[in-house]
Amino acid sequence: MSLLTQLSRTTFLSSRLSSLWQSSLLLNSFNLTRGMKVRSSVKKFCDGCYTTKRRGRVFILCKKNKKHKQRQG
Ligand SMILES: [Zn+2]
Repeated sequence: MSLLTQLSRTTFLSSRLSSLWQSSLLLNSFNLTRGMKVRSSVKKFCDGCYTTKRRGRVFILCKKNKKHKQRQG
């Protein structure tokens, strides 16, 4: 087997792996948006977090980390 064939096979495999990884990442971010934390008390975790009031509820949203999303009540 030539080096070029080996190289192209590796590239093919890694591109397949990365697309798999990307789709699982997409799924994860989708779940995170749906699975927003509901707490009786919410707080900011980092300086990317900001509070917003919607329909009488306090939400914490974050520009830096989606895991920081919370909802009060
Ligand atoms: Zn944050």
